[in-house]
Amino acid sequence: MLFHSTRGNDSHKSFKDIAIQGLATDGGLYVPDFWPQIDLDQIKACKTYGDVAKIILPAFASDSFDEIEIRSMVDDIWQGFPSKHLVQFKNFDDFSIAELFHGPTAAFKDFGLQLVSYFLHHILKEDNQNGVILGATSGDTGSAAIHACKEYSNIKTFILLPEGNMSEVQRRQMSTVKNNNIFAIKVSGTFDDCQDIVKQAFNSDQFLPQNFSLLAVNSINWLRIIAQICYYFYSFSAINITKPLCFSIPSGNFGNVFSAYAAYKMGLPIKELCVAVNDNDILDRFFKNNDYSKNLTVPTISPSMDISVASNFERLIYDYYLERDAMTCNQLFTNFKSGKLALNDDLFKSKSGLFSSTVVSQEETRKIMKYFFDNYKYALDPHSAIACKRALEKSDFHVVSMATAHPDKFPDLFRALDIPIANHHPALQDLSNLEERLIAMPCDFSIIKNFINNSL
Ligand SMILES: *Cc1c(COP(=O)(O)O)cnc(C)c1O
Repeated sequence: MLFHSTRGNDSHKSFKDIAIQGLATDGGLYVPDFWPQIDLDQIKACKTYGDVAKIILPAFASDSFDEIEIRSMVDDIWQGFPSKHLVQFKNFDDFSIAELFHGPTAAFKDFGLQLVSYFLHHILKEDNQNGVILGATSGDTGSAAIHACKEYSNIKTFILLPEGNMSEVQRRQMSTVKNNNIFAIKVSGTFDDCQDIVKQAFNSDQFLPQNFSLLAVNSINWLRIIAQICYYFYSFSAINITKPLCFSIPSGNFGNVFSAYAAYKMGLPIKELCVAVNDNDILDRFFKNNDYSKNLTVPTISPSMDISVASNFERLIYDYYLERDAMTCNQLFTNFKSGKLALNDDLFKSKSGLFSSTVVSQEETRKIMKYFFDNYKYALDPHSAIACKRALEKSDFHVVSMATAHPDKFPDLFRALDIPIANHHPALQDLSNLEERLIAMPCDFSIIKNFINNSL
């Protein structure tokens, strides 16, 4: 399997290339040259998430690793999870919840980041290189990256934390890690300011000394998508599904929904994908009205979904709507600099059916959380609650709703709603007793660059 860019000017890339490189050289996103087809009988026979990964991962990594090697690697990748049941399911009357939050930082991003960091470590070691991860975070990505990389001595991780809407637990998950290859930097600026510094670093020729590679772990990295494809196949294997299958997914940068779409293209019989968003509704406006236009971000009680554009969305436009016409994709996204994108109306209409979408206000999110507690004694974090709106609607589908964060990440909100949390996450218990180590920095590219270089 090789990979190419959605914009047509970067191709023949191996699994190892795209692990290290992230964004394609022409500004597009990497996609596989074709969709491998998965044998559903084999999936049905899987007992664990790891068993599924042993089928999915070789399908994408075959040019770089042989199948036996990859299968034995899978046993090591998710070792950092506190429980060996990586994904757990809760079945309700006529829907199910897939709990994806049992990883070390209590968010589904642990799956993707543990996979990326494992391969980055491995590939860098083979090439006698060192890696520097630089990223900005509004909450969950930073802590998942820090916890995925902290044991790999050939990788140093620098995460920029903006001022703003992050919960205390989310901050402490980053600031209390003691390993000396981890740097949590509190920047006096917004999330967008932090993103700009990261972009500038990736656009500089000599940001780091020669034997260091600058690495991104944001949600466009294809390896993160692979880990997520696995939980759709695993849901199919683990849940007894007798009706048409619908996945409902709380969405921000569209990485998770795109992974479900990839599973569909690889043969999983999905009839509906529900894209559930908060007041930051660019995706809902697209799926309902063919209007993908950028607005200002509004802060909400589901901060990991507060986005103004969805960075993985280009992959869907390229593969699903444009049927891999890279030239048109290139034009659309080059023009998107203006902040607006719309498809030809006939084309848009011809593709209706697979995707649905829903916007859930903060008020409604709180109501759904209350409803689950009152009716099922089940504590649902605000991100997961947004996806559960679709599960509560009557339909002929079996809805599997993705639960992406553990309630323990948002204790203040649960206190305010008077909802007790019955099952605590083991990794979040002692956080408030640990000492914090945050490095304060002005929002200044050269100061941050110097700091990073002096820390290598
Ligand atoms: C990142 C995140 C999301 C959004 O996922 P995308 O793949 O960016 O759409 C939803 N919920 C939680 C808890 C997250 O951390």
